[in-house]
Amino acid sequence: MAVDLHLHSSASDGTLTPADIVKRAHAQGLSAIALTDHDTVAGIEEALKTGDDLGITVIPGLEMSSEYGGKDVHILGYFIDCSSPRLLETLTVLRESRLQRAQTMVDKLAGLGLEIDYGEVCSLTQGGAIGRPHVAQILVRHGLVKDIGSAFELYIGRDGPGYVAKYVLNPADVIGLIHQAGGVTSLAHPGLSRVGEELLLALKAQGLDAVEVWHTDHSDAERDTYLELATRVGLLVTGGSDCHGFGKIRGYVLGSIDIPDTIIGPLKERAGHASLT
Ligand code: AMP
Ligand code: ZN
Ligand code: FE
Ligand code: FE
Repeated sequence: MAVDLHLHSSASDGTLTPADIVKRAHAQGLSAIALTDHDTVAGIEEALKTGDDLGITVIPGLEMSSEYGGKDVHILGYFIDCSSPRLLETLTVLRESRLQRAQTMVDKLAGLGLEIDYGEVCSLTQGGAIGRPHVAQILVRHGLVKDIGSAFELYIGRDGPGYVAKYVLNPADVIGLIHQAGGVTSLAHPGLSRVGEELLLALKAQGLDAVEVWHTDHSDAERDTYLELATRVGLLVTGGSDCHGFGKIRGYVLGSIDIPDTIIGPLKERAGHASLT
């Protein structure tokens, strides 16, 4: 059966609630999903409960950003203990810095003649992780740009005049944090981040456990390349759609890739041991 191990809910920058995601995955015939919101585990409890009710496996996860050698390195964590005090404290610091960054972006956009309200941006997640997609959504709501894509293209993309960098940890710290919470780590969308063998080996040396081979933005050739590379260097493999819900980047792609459920056993096995190494 198929699985989808990269999904964002309304706890971060997705449009669907955690319960909706699990219900839809179940209705589509998936055997397991992982909820991987940015910098928060706020949606996990609801997802686990819905999974229990319906009889579909829900893996507690998250996605954390980091930077290495000038590249965006996003790291997924799976089978994490969501009550780990160190994990929760760090996530709180990251979310608070996201709030400050949103305020700076609002100020910067005002300087460009685009007046939006910080409170309105913050109202889009319930104490979750505020990010650029929320700023984009408010710009669209007030007719200041025509759609989310244009907001990124014209203003808040990496080279845009309204861009503000986000405070991030380095990969070794993210990997260590997830390991101490009993989890296992996977490098998200390496094709999108243009990660080659050298960087992958450096991350493996820092404790990385797996690579995301299947991803909506990977071509078939990239998928094959990362599968070969992971197998050769001794990393486990993961996969997911990175669905953010309707009307968001990529659109509704939940369950759209045929990802084998056989990837889960080795991850679970490693999760039990990674924290001991
Ligand atoms: P942040 O973590 O706040 O910097 O926001 C990054 C998020 O913005 C990504 O996870 C995507 O969901 C979204 N994103 C990035 N680039 C684009 C784009 N060109 N169009 C729409 N959404 C984007
Ligand atoms: Zn996102
Ligand atoms: Fe990502
Ligand atoms: Fe993601």
